Amino acid sequence: MINIVIFGPPGAGKGTQSSKLLAQFGLIHLSTGDLFRSHIKNSTALGLEAKSYMDKGNLVPDSVTIGMLKSKVEENPTAKGFIFDGFPRTTPQAESLDAFLKSLNTEISACLSLQVPDEELIKRLLERGKSSGRADDADEEVIKNRLGVYMRETNPLKSFYADQSKLEEVEGVGTIEEIFGRLSAAIDKHA
Ligand code: AMP
Repeated sequence: MINIVIFGPPGAGKGTQSSKLLAQFGLIHLSTGDLFRSHIKNSTALGLEAKSYMDKGNLVPDSVTIGMLKSKVEENPTAKGFIFDGFPRTTPQAESLDAFLKSLNTEISACLSLQVPDEELIKRLLERGKSSGRADDADEEVIKNRLGVYMRETNPLKSFYADQSKLEEVEGVGTIEEIFGRLSAAIDKHA
């Protein structure tokens, strides 16, 4: 199996690149943000809970997020591998993911970290907010909170994966094709 964590701040291009990578490597794309948005659309209890955090740009509690992610993996027992997008975002999530994959006799192959400067991220997110219909993309204060949460809670995970020799830092500025080429090369190193 190939299991990839696509990592980076909001607006780094994780979703865009995941769509291309899953086609190239035959992987299943699991985006916790997309899963939460689908719960919200279907007005589930989980969606209702998640929305209160998401609208402010805060993280949904680990217990909720980890449970949701695990059940999605379990729904795909014949998968060739997964692209985890927007997960893990905290150390407990990363530790749970490692333990969970180990129980399935597999592991993370690589963590691809997209590097994009803050000014570029804010510009991209405000632009996306015009058409995405996402409240958390339309408000600059919420965007800034999301970037702050990323720096505090998620960015430290780079050393979690670096310690396992699985971290690949990839320049996230350029054309979609250029960035895709860099990511594919990074995956090939670990596949
Ligand atoms: P995203 O689509 O990845 O930008 O996620 C949108 C929002 O969903 C985030 O700002 C969080 O509120 C929530 N979310 C997504 N993934 C996670 C996660 N792994 N842990 C906690 N909250 C998450």
